[in-house]
Amino acid sequence: EPDLMWYQTRCVVALECVKVCQEGALKLTEDGMRIDRKKCTGCGECVKACPAGALELVGKTYNAEELLDEVLRDRAFYDKSNGGVTFGGGEPMLQIDFLEHVLPKLKETNIHVAIDTCGAVPWKYFERIIDYVDLFLFDLKLSDEEKFREYTGGNMRLVTDNAREISSHEIPMWVRTPIIPGYTDDRENIEGISQFVNRNLASTQRYDLLSFNNMCKSKYERLDMNWELKHARLIGKERMEELKKIAERAGLSNVRWSGPTKMEDD
Ligand code: SF4
Repeated sequence: EPDLMWYQTRCVVALECVKVCQEGALKLTEDGMRIDRKKCTGCGECVKACPAGALELVGKTYNAEELLDEVLRDRAFYDKSNGGVTFGGGEPMLQIDFLEHVLPKLKETNIHVAIDTCGAVPWKYFERIIDYVDLFLFDLKLSDEEKFREYTGGNMRLVTDNAREISSHEIPMWVRTPIIPGYTDDRENIEGISQFVNRNLASTQRYDLLSFNNMCKSKYERLDMNWELKHARLIGKERMEELKKIAERAGLSNVRWSGPTKMEDD
């Protein structure tokens, strides 16, 4: 569903948006525009009414045919660049009916397909599409079951069992760990994940450590949404190097890290 975004820096307090909204979903407060998302229908009337372009509807709904048309329009580009399509999110595996419809058609056209997933869905979802996927970008966030339950509310076994199954089907995987300060950035965690990958996931082609990225902070603010990590700080480059070495010492050979890091004197 498209979401309404408000840009504080553009707002000239004309309040045309508030007047035009039939649902009463907008209210300008001292802390900025409050958007009641339960009331907002995404009609876009406020976007049209704003003289300063301070409101924007972001996101677009596609049905499977529309998406295929869009993808196939760039076919020549994929052929030249050896590129392809990556389904990310959110969690694309939660859109399994959609994927099951689209992926066989992409396979017919030989377009490379990657799925970026946290793996926390029943295996029967993967079974429905696994024959049409060329690469899984697979998140392994934590190696401790208790912490996994505490931080994500989910079941780590489900994730690791799915990862094992994908590997046993010999589908290439890029395993990824987002390095979140205070949650996933400790030695034991990276060591534990690396050992698991080394012992169980033979189809892994690389292990990526993704440093915490706070660039979405302003987006959360524009969407008037709370983000628990808004005060978290970036990780240092040295620490990312250390974590990479920990993974290598645990037996992984193609370990990379990427993402923003804090400045030396930060
Ligand atoms: S998109 Fe429509 S319903 Fe939502 S805040 Fe704007 S005018 Fe109101």
